[in-house]
Amino acid sequence: MTAPTRFSAAAAGPAPQPPAPDARSSAELIRAEGPVLAHNYHPLPVVVARAEGVWVEDVEGRRYLDMLAGYSALNFGHRHPALVEAAHRQLDQVTLTSRAFHNDRLAGFAEGLAALTGMDMVLPMNTGAEAVESGIKVARKWAYDVKGVAPDQATIVVAADNFHGRTTTLVSFSTDPVARAGYGPYTPGFRIVPYNDLAALEAAVDETTAAVLIEPIQGEAGVLIPDDGYLAGVRELTRRAGCLFIADEIQSGLGRTGRTLAVEHESVVPDVLLLGKALGGGIVPVSAVVARRDVLEVLHPGEHGSTFGGNPLAAAVGSAVIDLLSTGEYQRRAAELGEVLRAGLAGLTGKGITGFRARGLWAGVDVDPALGTGREISERLMREGVLVKDTHGSTVRLAPPLTITEDELSSAIEALGRVLGE
Ligand SMILES: *Cc1c(COP(=O)(O)O)cnc(C)c1O
Repeated sequence: MTAPTRFSAAAAGPAPQPPAPDARSSAELIRAEGPVLAHNYHPLPVVVARAEGVWVEDVEGRRYLDMLAGYSALNFGHRHPALVEAAHRQLDQVTLTSRAFHNDRLAGFAEGLAALTGMDMVLPMNTGAEAVESGIKVARKWAYDVKGVAPDQATIVVAADNFHGRTTTLVSFSTDPVARAGYGPYTPGFRIVPYNDLAALEAAVDETTAAVLIEPIQGEAGVLIPDDGYLAGVRELTRRAGCLFIADEIQSGLGRTGRTLAVEHESVVPDVLLLGKALGGGIVPVSAVVARRDVLEVLHPGEHGSTFGGNPLAAAVGSAVIDLLSTGEYQRRAAELGEVLRAGLAGLTGKGITGFRARGLWAGVDVDPALGTGREISERLMREGVLVKDTHGSTVRLAPPLTITEDELSSAIEALGRVLGE
């Protein structure tokens, strides 16, 4: 038997057909979920069946402007043509090898991501939580192997109101009782200090500290932007203390704030960056720990891994995402349209909005509690054809795809104004 020298197109099967739609209505599908789907989410009552760009369409054909963008996993909109093309092309070549073998997409992905972020080395993972977990493992190992912290004594300083994901270790240092309660025993080794408080951070850091782990902007907490100088202060403090600065840019990074990374607003270069969400182009989960060589070098074969991390499909889509960001166009759009968003929200302040925080195309909007909870405002906006998500209490988060037009953005802000005026 002779080995085939190339694969025929026929081996890939017939041309793809759209999936057969579920014949049930939105209401029936929502009811059907109840008994069979874990109740760990409370979604808005919209059942999306198709999407393109900034628009999604439900089962009945109603269209909505997506102002959440998958918590910034959809920075380039739904099914961006360049990303879909990269995925389609890769589907016809090879999709999974495991890291037992090399694949021909991984070198380019790592080179591209290192160049985009100005870092040296990349550890590819899948979800954001895995990237944070991996960053914690790398920091602890660095503390023992390089810094010389006594075995099992390493600490990591984190901020109150953080959101880093949902694993057992990550909820161990969450200050949100809903996210944390009931999951003990908790992973030790974390010290929690108030966010945006350099004095508290300084007091918590000592010779056992492996790293300070923070979000440059706290997204889930309501798009909390620290004071100017905070990130630079964290950089200075961690450098002086001889510990790592890990920036979780999983939500704030990759164009959202008008820069490739949110830390760039203070010209800060952390030791370790955690990326995810938009890195997968809204198509596949792709995350990464990106760091200096002397940090990521602490990992040796067998000491960490993931079956799916760095798979060829993920690397191909991730590379296409990096190509989009390398043009600077999306960062520019986020910065320019961010001014439109900011002006629109300023116009609503005192008219149903008590305050807001915005950077780039990302805003946390505090709605006057007398007008309803964030959830109620989100439901009313849904009926106006705009999808958003509440965070805590009466805060609504706006984070549209960076591909949104000025007219679409203005129409979403007008819809918010109408809802607040009701
Ligand atoms: C979403 C998010 C995570 C977790 O990402 P998952 O892909 O949901 O595991 C971690 N950190 C930040 C800042 C996030 O926004």
